[in-house]
Amino acid sequence: MTADIIPHTSIDGHQPCWQDELAATIRDPAVLLARLEIAPAQLDGAAVAQQAWSIRAPLPYVARMKKGDINDPLLKQILPLGAEMQSVPGFSNDPLAEEDANPIPGVVHKYHGRVLFIISPACAIHCRYCFRRHFAYEDNTPGKGQWQAALDYLRQDESISEVIYSGGDPLAANDNFLLWITQQIATIPHIKRLRIHTRLPLVIPSRIDQSCLHWLTATRLKVVMVWHINHANEIDQAVMAAAQKLKQHGIELLNQSVLLKQVNDSVPTLVALSERLWDTGILPYYIHRLDKVAGAAHFHISDQKIRRLQQGLMETLPGYLVPRFVCEQPGARSKTALFLSEPGAP
Ligand code: SF4
Repeated sequence: MTADIIPHTSIDGHQPCWQDELAATIRDPAVLLARLEIAPAQLDGAAVAQQAWSIRAPLPYVARMKKGDINDPLLKQILPLGAEMQSVPGFSNDPLAEEDANPIPGVVHKYHGRVLFIISPACAIHCRYCFRRHFAYEDNTPGKGQWQAALDYLRQDESISEVIYSGGDPLAANDNFLLWITQQIATIPHIKRLRIHTRLPLVIPSRIDQSCLHWLTATRLKVVMVWHINHANEIDQAVMAAAQKLKQHGIELLNQSVLLKQVNDSVPTLVALSERLWDTGILPYYIHRLDKVAGAAHFHISDQKIRRLQQGLMETLPGYLVPRFVCEQPGARSKTALFLSEPGAP
């Protein structure tokens, strides 16, 4: 489960300040619904689910939701529901068996050549479908000394060429730490690329400030940033401006989405997402089948429906705007591609 505290650090003083926006995050479902002018009667067990895993709703993200609409696709991603408390067969706390790939604190090593660093246990937003919502962050928040062990892990394995910053959300860490760890990694000759998986610039676009751009660009490593956007409505002008800043500083931008029932499970919705991503300068890269994490079963979409969505995208969009449909399977040596042909087809 993600930690509640994100460090507050001083940065360049530009407005708005991302730490202030983070501090103002809504942490009560009733407050969120009141702001959206939705009757509290529609909370549907939110208080119970909220106790199991709290709500985090940053105001810049909430501002993109439609008032009075309990079915808003952004609201659905973050509103706790009583349904989360139901135990559903096949849905577990560690659906990707990451505990088996966690050799030392802060490090997850699943695939050849790439190692994931759990840079921060915290997130600015709590996405109810998150496959790490039960992750043992308490065992994976190394201090600076323990990060040396993680760096030694990289040094000793020359097959590793890419480090992935993950979490939680790695951009919830402060820029001084991010500068330090990035500098340390860059001293290891066989590491070529740095990938950053984040949702923070989407939910609080002011996170992409001068301080952030400094450590992102003051490195010999080639930096790729993978955003996590599930619906076109998540992208507003401020998000576009943040993406533009990154692009101007040479950062490659990719997107990965998760297929979510009643959020993005229609062809027009996914087409609009791909188009909007392209307009923003972000390549639609992956679209994931939901990982079967306990508490997220109400987001599940059948394989039959996923196949129809894939077919619809292929028939509507140019190939470069069709993301790769994939899933993760515990113990597999890569992501698994989904449905390039009908079952039984040659
Ligand atoms: S921002 Fe990412 S890591 Fe954090 S809750 Fe959402 S999906 Fe999970």
